Amino acid sequence: MSTKLLTNNLGYPRIGDRRELKKATEAYWAGKIDRDALLATAADLRRRNWEKQRDAGIDLIPSNDFSFYDQVLDMSLLLGNVPARFSDLNEDQSDLDRLFSIARGHTAHHDCPGCAASEMTKWFDTNYHYIVPELSAESQFQLSGGKVIDEFNEALALGILTRPVLIGPLTWLKLGKCIDANSENFDRLALLDRLLPVYAELIKKLASFGVEWIQFDEPALSLDLDDSERTALTRIYAELGAAAPEVKLLVANYFGELRDNLDTFVNLPVAAVHIDAVRARAEVDQVIAALPAERILSVGVVDGRNIWKNRYTDSLELLKNARAQLGEERLLVAASCSLLHSPVSLDSEPDLDPELHDWLAFADQKLDEITELRDLLIWRAPLDALHDNEASHVRRANSERIHHAEVQARAAAVTAADLTRPSVFAQRREAQQERLQLPMFPTTTIGSFPQTSEVRRARARFRKGELSPGAYRDFLREETARCVSEQEILGLDMPVHGEFERTDMVEYFGEKLDGFAFTNNGWVQSYGSRCVKPPVIFGDVSRPEPMTVEWSSYAQSLTERPMKGMLTGPITILQWSFVRDDQPRSATARQIALAIRDEVADLEAANLPAIQIDEPALREGLPLRRADWSTYLDWAVDAFRLSSAVAADATQIHTHMCYCEFNDIIESIAKLDADVITIETSRSNMELLDAFTDFAYPNEIGPGVYDIHSPRVPSVDEMQTLLEKAAAVLPVANLWVNPDCGLKTRDWPETRAALENLVSAAKAMRAKHGTAQPLAAV
Ligand code: GLN
Ligand code: ZN
Repeated sequence: MSTKLLTNNLGYPRIGDRRELKKATEAYWAGKIDRDALLATAADLRRRNWEKQRDAGIDLIPSNDFSFYDQVLDMSLLLGNVPARFSDLNEDQSDLDRLFSIARGHTAHHDCPGCAASEMTKWFDTNYHYIVPELSAESQFQLSGGKVIDEFNEALALGILTRPVLIGPLTWLKLGKCIDANSENFDRLALLDRLLPVYAELIKKLASFGVEWIQFDEPALSLDLDDSERTALTRIYAELGAAAPEVKLLVANYFGELRDNLDTFVNLPVAAVHIDAVRARAEVDQVIAALPAERILSVGVVDGRNIWKNRYTDSLELLKNARAQLGEERLLVAASCSLLHSPVSLDSEPDLDPELHDWLAFADQKLDEITELRDLLIWRAPLDALHDNEASHVRRANSERIHHAEVQARAAAVTAADLTRPSVFAQRREAQQERLQLPMFPTTTIGSFPQTSEVRRARARFRKGELSPGAYRDFLREETARCVSEQEILGLDMPVHGEFERTDMVEYFGEKLDGFAFTNNGWVQSYGSRCVKPPVIFGDVSRPEPMTVEWSSYAQSLTERPMKGMLTGPITILQWSFVRDDQPRSATARQIALAIRDEVADLEAANLPAIQIDEPALREGLPLRRADWSTYLDWAVDAFRLSSAVAADATQIHTHMCYCEFNDIIESIAKLDADVITIETSRSNMELLDAFTDFAYPNEIGPGVYDIHSPRVPSVDEMQTLLEKAAAVLPVANLWVNPDCGLKTRDWPETRAALENLVSAAKAMRAKHGTAQPLAAV
């Protein structure tokens, strides 16, 4: 039985269900396998992925969604946009090696600072990172390399006609960064004159190989665009559509609502458009109403960003309505976005509790959902499929594992007073100074110390059962003791315990909290060969028992100096997990905040004089549209305050943020009302401190003076220069001296050397700016 109602998929995870691509790529980098072996692994993965989609019943299957590193970098290379410092690698290096060099830095020229890797940043509001295209007014483009054609042909040879995926010109330009020193009047849209002919040439070439459809990803449509960008979009697709009229173009928006871009989008002169009906569900009717008569609409009903089973009753209602208005031929059933952001398969999770297992859908299951939804629509699938799906949702909604009346009641009872410290900062500061007796320019670190191979080996042995829990604990206590004594010798004013018991700052807490589950193989690509395995928050969150008190009090017992307890904040835990979809994120954040609040209270009761609550992910939680920022920031700031405000005046609350351009959210950061914030600034040479010239940050602050991302040991002078820069915009009495971030990826010798210099830099600052107590200086 053939149908005119087709299923559509925008992209599929390329890492493999056992992270085969990661392993092969890293083995290639390490020289353990050769290029052919890497290419063979990649070809095998692509074949399996295409066949899987075909077997699942997907009609429109993507190609060129595979990448050895990143699809944005692939696009840049296809357009011939190679950063000048890598252009000479053309002759003696293969395209593949050049791609890796741009992404990772050219290791053969290690000492040449000009050969730094291209920057990497987050792909919209996901945890995937892309390689930032480097643009200038002089950028030239030319069609280079044949990856997209090779992969199309490769699939064709397997009997699968695919739809090549490209990043659309507007999105690609918008994601780029201007590398001109004088970038003020850089007009990226002016590059279209040179860029579009290359895209057009590519379309023609693809047409000559028998390509029927091409997908252009334009998630920039979920961002705030201006009129010139909207006009450019119309022009782009008019030109690209004319390049090879026999080829049908699909333009895909995902990750958000179209809002003021809706009219431009639906009227693009292309065969089909795709919308994210999960994130932009409220807009579906409006899109359908505005859609020109001949246009096909791909409706992304299956959530590509989360791991929950689709609710068929909801999706069918939406799809039936769409079909009624569009007809079968103009409707495609799809996932909301590429499945790149989902783990590969639930079949790799035999250990997952069966009840929870039943609530989930990973990429493979999402493919099945897409076809099953289509089949239900056309009465091809038995109604049992619908009933089973609904039954699973009812079981989940009523599960006792999710709902805890006590947690909900406590969250509902939170008042403004719970979000506010007992006294204002000035008063707390006095109490803290009296208790802590810190010098000017106090020194501290961000929390973790080197996770040496010895530490990792001990953990692996413990996990395999080769090391008993007692022996493992003894080992960790020894490491902690050694770390505390190292810090005393270095002369750090506020030591930490070192975090040896943690692999990951979210996993550690997730494992100790109720309402979290962990998968065995739920890996999602983060960047290049790196994958993360986010915890699953499935139910109400609570803390059965203290999580860190033992380690922190043990560390405090070893020293007279004030020890800093170390926690991960509610927003970071939320942001780096798969979050339940049956209540607002803000509600889940509040529950996590209450659990952290209990930990703060317990650390305080155990006499820890300082507690750091890390929130490196605060900024990345920002919605894509400016207009939505304040709602998010309000509940995010409240969650942090709820977790910390339980502390008495004399307990110093620290927070830490990194990867963060916080200039535009500085007021919210101030509202966190942490007594001390440590931030990443050294990589940008303190440029980030510009924010503080316009805004008088009220509390204490430690702008990082040592870039922990590099093994390089900064000199005393260098750090002192950075501190002087900070002292020019911030009151010296408020300044702390610390690295940029945790030291867990570093080795001991370089850590020791860098911290020794850091302490000397602080001393030099004291000598110059006076050694008075901060209070006297205010
Ligand atoms: N306390 C954590 C550490 O030092 C902070 C890590 C982070 O900011 N990403 O490792
Ligand atoms: Zn950090």
